Amino acid sequence: MAESQQGRAARLELELQRDGPTCAWCAREFGSHVVPTTDHLVPRVKGGPSRLENEVAACRRCNRERGHRSPVDWLEECGRRGWTPDAGRVLRVLTSLEEVVAVHGGHRRARPYLDNQLRRLRKHDQVSDFQDVHETGPNG
Ligand SMILES: [Zn+2]
Repeated sequence: MAESQQGRAARLELELQRDGPTCAWCAREFGSHVVPTTDHLVPRVKGGPSRLENEVAACRRCNRERGHRSPVDWLEECGRRGWTPDAGRVLRVLTSLEEVVAVHGGHRRARPYLDNQLRRLRKHDQVSDFQDVHETGPNG
């Protein structure tokens, strides 16, 4: 099974540089008690590749608790928990994966899942939707 050229630790380092030193889901800053891990947006079981364009840094707790939930389902759950998930980051990273697929092809198995997630994210239109679910506007 072909993995990416970079190891997981190297990718994590690049993801932290790209997105900042916080968990994508709970927004906590990484440190000795909040350990960063790489979290696949499109899960591996859905054909999601192990590459920068499909991963965000997430704390171990969030990574574990998310399990196989989709990014959008999990963003909504984070909002319900009163966290401030970085939906903008998720949209950015999934958009970059969409570009990779458009340019290089491949990842055929991941595409329907990816399309579905992007459609749902873009429908939310305000990424801040995920951060104040208690205060929903009339635009439903
Ligand atoms: Zn977290």
